[in-house]
Amino acid sequence: MEAWKAKQRAIKALEERLREEERAEARRDHHARRPPRPCGITVHTGVGCPLACAYCYIYDMGFPGAATPYKLSPLQLAYAIAVNPHVAVGERGTLVAVGSVTEPFLPETREKALQYMQAVAAFLGNPIQVSSKMPPPPQLAEVQRGLDVLISVTDLSGRLEPRAPPPAERMRAGAELLKRGVSVTLFVRPIIPGVTDKEVARLLLFARELGYRRVVFGTLRVTANIAKRLRAFGVDVAPYTSELSERQVPIKYPKGRFVAAARELGFEVLPASCAANVVAHGQACALCGWGPCGDVKKLRTDPDDVKEYLEYSGYKSEVEIRGLRVRIHGRISRLDKIFIEQATRMPVEAGEY
Ligand code: SF4
Ligand code: SF4
Repeated sequence: MEAWKAKQRAIKALEERLREEERAEARRDHHARRPPRPCGITVHTGVGCPLACAYCYIYDMGFPGAATPYKLSPLQLAYAIAVNPHVAVGERGTLVAVGSVTEPFLPETREKALQYMQAVAAFLGNPIQVSSKMPPPPQLAEVQRGLDVLISVTDLSGRLEPRAPPPAERMRAGAELLKRGVSVTLFVRPIIPGVTDKEVARLLLFARELGYRRVVFGTLRVTANIAKRLRAFGVDVAPYTSELSERQVPIKYPKGRFVAAARELGFEVLPASCAANVVAHGQACALCGWGPCGDVKKLRTDPDDVKEYLEYSGYKSEVEIRGLRVRIHGRISRLDKIFIEQATRMPVEAGEY
């Protein structure tokens, strides 16, 4: 299977460039162990964030209000991802999402974020996406063909993001990248009741004037703490959620009219951030019920490839491709199932050990 061979090649190339203690540190890191989320394998460019957006969930997760660059070197980070047994390596491998529990382009972490993306692009080649509330740096145009940049906004005023640069500033910087041929997606996330809905038409119009043509709308997830912080900003989420606890729950707020308004203005509306990564790279994915996304003709998988990987891993199972699903006749481990799903971008049906 090509993703498996690409993984071995990447591991070897990186091992030749890293000392044993650097490899050991990378192998112990969570990037080397975590299974990918639906948006892909998330890359932490730093720890903590000082921007204190009212709806942010990282403080409830124990992250601090100051940022420090993540401890791994760029080559160690690429190596950690390559050795992660869940991750398929290569151009059509696991999606890489940069900027999940911090802001990647803070002055403290910006250099490292760029170096991480450059290392992933050079040694792994996986499709990269980065999301930001800071103006994205122009160097992004050189990182990877198809790189997707998500410009994250909740409204034009930015009143719930008082320490972040104004939304118009980040949108204009994104538009500069658009002009240089980079895929830049407007990421209206999270939708805040009573805030985003008041000016979504203005926001979309402004984005369209700047050249944006792709948008993703994201749901707000709340804990009791987030609801309390939002109340201090005059936002009441109580009507949209029945439970508030330490657990993050998505609020029930219909997105239909946001989607309709965007389509009317000619935007391509994608169901999730990962879809923007897939489409920007001219690829496809059928891994979840929100898809399939992209050009599904590109999802052809040769069952013999999967069989070869299974044989190599010690299984003797027949493999069939049924529509956009991989059917394995026999039981395989959860880890192998995830790896094959990542390598084929199709759900795998199999018994599990
Ligand atoms: S920029 Fe992102 S990580 Fe930082 S506070 Fe805002 S939402 Fe949280
Ligand atoms: S099918 Fe689309 S929405 Fe679902 S995981 Fe794939 S890219 Fe994301």
